[in-house]
Amino acid sequence: MRQSLMNDRVGFAIVGLGKLALGQILPAFAHTQHCRVAALVSGHRDKALKLARKHKLQDSMVFDYANFDRLADQADVEVVLPNSLHAEYTIRAARGGKHVLCEKPMAISVFECRQMIEACQRADRRLMVAYRCQYDPADRALRRLVKEGKLGRLKTFLSSHAFQIENTPQWRLQRALSGGGALPDIGIYCINGVRYLSGEEPYEIAAIQQSPLGDSRFREVEETVHFTLGFPSGLRAMCHTSYGTHRCNFLRLVGTEGWAELDPAYSHAGLKLRVAAAARGQTAVDEPPLPAADPFALEMDHMASCVREGRRPYSPGEEGLQDQRLMEAIYVSAREGGRPMKLDVIDGGTWRGPEPAEAAPRVM
Ligand code: NDP
Repeated sequence: MRQSLMNDRVGFAIVGLGKLALGQILPAFAHTQHCRVAALVSGHRDKALKLARKHKLQDSMVFDYANFDRLADQADVEVVLPNSLHAEYTIRAARGGKHVLCEKPMAISVFECRQMIEACQRADRRLMVAYRCQYDPADRALRRLVKEGKLGRLKTFLSSHAFQIENTPQWRLQRALSGGGALPDIGIYCINGVRYLSGEEPYEIAAIQQSPLGDSRFREVEETVHFTLGFPSGLRAMCHTSYGTHRCNFLRLVGTEGWAELDPAYSHAGLKLRVAAAARGQTAVDEPPLPAADPFALEMDHMASCVREGRRPYSPGEEGLQDQRLMEAIYVSAREGGRPMKLDVIDGGTWRGPEPAEAAPRVM
C-alpha cells in the first residue's frame, strides 16, 4: 500500500491490547478500505512497541493510559478495554476531540452510557458501539428476510449464548471491572440480536438468575440468566446465557410463514444461515451462501465513513444505552424472583444513522 493512499484512510488508535484487539481488530485492518492503525494505547509498553513495529508505527505513536490524552491529532479511538473502563476512555477521547468506536457492552450502567453520549454530543464527535453482528452479512441477510416479510409475522425468537469460563483471575469475574457476569458479556448478543432482527423494542422483560453455590468463579458475578422479552407485535424472545455450560451460540427466529436460524450466531466469523419457508405446500430448508467478509473490518469501515462524511453511525451510543437499560431491568426482575417488568415503549431505530453502504445480501 503506497503511503499516500494509506494516509487518506481514517486513523484509529487502539486503546487496550488484549485478546480481541490482538486476535481480531488489529488483523482486521488489512481487510478494511478506509481505516489504518494510527496509534496504540497500552499499560504494557514492550508489547505495544513490538506491535507498533509490526504495524509500521513510530514509537511516538505508542501511548499509555496516563498520557492517552496526548494522542496525535489524526487518530480516532477504538476502546477495547474491560467494560468498566469504556466510559472513562470514551469521555476522555471525546474531550480531546476524538470520535469513538466503543466495544460492547457500552458501559456498566445507564448513567455512564448517558454521560458518554452527552460527552460526544457536546464535543460534536461520532460515538459508535461495536455491535459487530449488525454489520455481518449473515445478520443483514436475515434482517432483510424479516423486513421483506419472508418469514411472515414473527412469533418467537430463541437464542442461547454460553460457554464454560475458566477459573483464572480475570476481569470478567470481577464485578467492578465487568459490571456483571454472562449477561453483559455474552447475553447482550441475544438482546441486541432480537432487537436488531425484529426492528422492535420490548415492552416487558422477565428473568431468572442462577449461580451454583460454592463455585468460586461466581463469587462476584452471575453464572446464568434465563430471560424473556415481550414485544408489541406479539413476538416473544426466550434467551439463555451462561458462563457454566458447554459452548452454545445460536438463534432461531420463527414466523407464521417460515423460520430462519443462525448457528453459530455470534462467533467472530463463519456464521451459518438456514432458512425454512413454505413453498407450494412443502417446507424447503435452504442454506444460502453468504459473501465471505470480516465483520470487524465492515464495522470499522462504517465508522470511518461516518467520521469522513459527518454522519451518525448505524449503531450509535443510544443503541448501547438501550441494551444497558434492558440489562438493568433483567437484573431487577431476577432479584424479584422473575417478576415481569413493564418497560417504557421506545420507538427504536429513531436514533440510528443510515444503514451501511453495502447492500444487505438477498438470500430468498
Ligand atoms: P482482554 O482482557 O483480553 O483485554 C483487555 C485489555 O485491556 C488488556 O489486555 C489490557 O491491555 C487492557 N486493560 C487496561 N486496564 C485493565 C485492567 N484493569 N484489567 C485488565 N485489562 C486491562 O479482554 P478482551 O479483549 O476479551 O475484551 C475487551 C473488550 O472487548 C470487552 O469490553 C469485551 O466485552 C469486548 N469484546 C468484544 C467482542 C466482540 O466480538 N465485539 C469479543 C470479545 C470481547 P494492555 O495490556 O494493552 O494495557
